[in-house]
Amino acid sequence: MKKLVILFSVFLVFFFGPLVSSVAQDFGPRVQPFIKTQAKVIAFQNATLIDGTGAPAQEGQTVLIRDGLIEEIGSVNEVSIPEGAEVMDMSGKTLLPGFVMMHEHMFYPAQAKDMSHMNQMDFSFPKLYLAGGATTIRTAGSVEPYSDQNLKKWIEKGEILGPKMDITGPYINSSDQSSLSMMKVTEGPEEARKLVNYWADEGFTSFKVYQDISRDLLKAVVEEVHARNLKVTGHICSISFREAADIGIDNLEHGFIMASDFIKDRTLDICQNNARQQAMINLAVDAPEMKALIDHLVDKGVAVTSTLPVFETFAKGQPVIEQRALDAMNPTMRDIYLTTWAAVQSSDNMSWATLLKKEMQWEKAFFEAGGLLMNGTDPTGYGGVVAGFANIRAVELLVQAGFSIEDAIKVSTLHGAKYLERDEEIGSIEKGKKADLVVINGDPTQNIQLLRKVEMVFKDGVGYDSEKVFEYTKGSVGVH
Ligand SMILES: [Zn+2]
Repeated sequence: MKKLVILFSVFLVFFFGPLVSSVAQDFGPRVQPFIKTQAKVIAFQNATLIDGTGAPAQEGQTVLIRDGLIEEIGSVNEVSIPEGAEVMDMSGKTLLPGFVMMHEHMFYPAQAKDMSHMNQMDFSFPKLYLAGGATTIRTAGSVEPYSDQNLKKWIEKGEILGPKMDITGPYINSSDQSSLSMMKVTEGPEEARKLVNYWADEGFTSFKVYQDISRDLLKAVVEEVHARNLKVTGHICSISFREAADIGIDNLEHGFIMASDFIKDRTLDICQNNARQQAMINLAVDAPEMKALIDHLVDKGVAVTSTLPVFETFAKGQPVIEQRALDAMNPTMRDIYLTTWAAVQSSDNMSWATLLKKEMQWEKAFFEAGGLLMNGTDPTGYGGVVAGFANIRAVELLVQAGFSIEDAIKVSTLHGAKYLERDEEIGSIEKGKKADLVVINGDPTQNIQLLRKVEMVFKDGVGYDSEKVFEYTKGSVGVH
């Protein structure tokens, strides 16, 4: 009987699909309230278009989508609107590709008196990522891998709201010095290999090593992960960027101020956090040794993920996060965040302010040298990075770093797609690609803060109401 039903539905879709006037996927009761349109054909008429390729923003553009794919792009006069299409007047509005964000987690810090701890945000984060414009994310490390896996599955089935997910397995580390209880302390290369294969068998497509990993362990991880045709990223410290690149790591998290390469008399395989920070504060922005490192990473094809939103929370002089992000937090986390932020502002310590500024310049230099710079948020620290709102902030910060808005969008879209080897289908507004789009109610090319006016986000051609998601998730971040 079940077989018959399945056969019958295949038959229906096959023969009658094209007659139905909405995008084919079914959505459950937890998703439906947030859908603004599911029309089969939609014309975004007269938009300012930033297509994600780095091409200059263009006014007066019409984008036509059909069955979840981008069908046509051209000036208002060129594109004829098919009968029955839903027409969206985009005058004064901007259309961007959905963000492909690369350092996202489904967890958020909890405040325990004498421990660092992370809580899974099943309810709020998937929704907020999408509502804030991220149509694809990579979870760069997980605390509840099976939860991440199920969230991905439920999102794909249309049961819950969220972005497309590339899931990273549990963190791989070689010591418990970091005091984060969710990490596997891997004893030796054989155990690392076993771990990689277990999670690859479970369907995880990305792996992340953490700051105390030894070169031997990284070698084993890289070898095993590459044998599965997957990729390895790292938040590293015990290993220099150059060593990691030479071992074959695919991606370095957080950017250049995390490089241990410039510590004098460095002890191999040992994380020296303070010495590294001091070395980076001392290193001149235009130091030739940094330029050489950047060139080496570009030569080796190692991608770098920017995570400016989490860095800025530690830097004196950076603003408090936007009101909607504060509203999304539960009152306890909001108080902790605001108190900590105020303490950062009143402290005399300028280390992070200096590092943030340098990081911005080095990321720009890496991008200009042809490096694959990608964007991410990293919702950790003391809670000042809230999923969704932080996507937008991450783009703003790149613009503050001196990127043109077109390049900042490219780093936040097409570059991630390239790394995921999915740039044939996502990452830019081009004919034939998935209709993953962000509608901004304003022109951020005039004022970057207008990027915050995300009105709708389209994933595979289905439009979701961002404001409704923000309203629905108020008070939840930090609890669920
Ligand atoms: Zn992280």
